[in-house]
Amino acid sequence: MYNSILVPIDVSETDLTRQVIPYVQAHSVLNTAKVHFLTVVPTLPYYSSLGLAYSAEMPKLKDIQHAALLKLDEIVKQFKIPAGKTQTHAAAGSPKDQILNLAKSIDADLIIIASHRPDISTYLLGSNAAAVVRHAGCPVLVVR
Ligand code: ADP
Repeated sequence: MYNSILVPIDVSETDLTRQVIPYVQAHSVLNTAKVHFLTVVPTLPYYSSLGLAYSAEMPKLKDIQHAALLKLDEIVKQFKIPAGKTQTHAAAGSPKDQILNLAKSIDADLIIIASHRPDISTYLLGSNAAAVVRHAGCPVLVVR
């Protein structure tokens, strides 16, 4: 039923990834053309306010993005989806904006996202998940 599925992954949250695997597997059936996985390297206003973001020790954003993509490639293996059907993406910036941008550019017809980090128990929906639910132009499956 779904042709282009988008799965945003926070590479630092292995529990959240584990949570979404069965849902991605259940929805990416034979006629699904592509499952797109996206990780977003957040920009660093906090570090930059401390004068650290552009210090010599700080790796370049492009290098961080490349490392994030390699990590995402590793994580995607856990989903056991045929290789030809997956595509990985790494972006930098605000996760919610980048998720919504990519959803548009790949014409996603489903986004599968975890609701929030388990340790942030006071919120039912994290800020990225909430913005995606509110602004996406396609159905969003929120995994709890
Ligand atoms: P919380 O505020 O509890 O961290 P979020 O809304 O940020 O909750 O996270 C929920 C989901 O949003 C994650 O499981 C993931 O799908 C997506 N997400 C969050 N951060 C990123 C990121 N940096 N890159 C890609 N996806 C992300």
